[in-house]
Amino acid sequence: MGVGFGIGCRECDYKKDFMLGIGFDYNPRSLRDIDSKYAMLQYLIKSNAALSLVKRLIKDKNGKFAGKCGHRIYICSRCGEFHERFSYCIYHDEGYFEPKFICNKCYGILNLLNEDKLKRLCNDKSIDLSEYYCPSCGRHSLIKEGSAQCFWD
Ligand SMILES: [Zn+2]
Ligand SMILES: [Zn+2]
Repeated sequence: MGVGFGIGCRECDYKKDFMLGIGFDYNPRSLRDIDSKYAMLQYLIKSNAALSLVKRLIKDKNGKFAGKCGHRIYICSRCGEFHERFSYCIYHDEGYFEPKFICNKCYGILNLLNEDKLKRLCNDKSIDLSEYYCPSCGRHSLIKEGSAQCFWD
């Protein structure tokens, strides 16, 4: 279950692989499990600060995962780098919490690639990536590499 594909550049040696189950959504109820040996939240949320906040919201503020929770592709608003992140949203007694992701190369804010484009990126072998620019050389010369396998509901 999941997907593996890469993005490469025709003009330079930029290459990025995405391996985890992008597009696969986790069951919101199983995500609330934070104590048992099956708990997987600590593997999904890599920031310690965010993880402890999420645990606190679940325990103390009746927090529940809502909407779609899963791996998504984000694009840096500053340098254009592609990132894979675990996307989620938690509703709790005082509102809701959504993580904000920051690029680990340039500290720019990451924007979520929309669902429709993500699906096409996974499934469409000949997707046109010319609207994005290469984070390495800045040219609009990105191509999709490798094969993809996606399972959508
Ligand atoms: Zn960046
Ligand atoms: Zn390039």
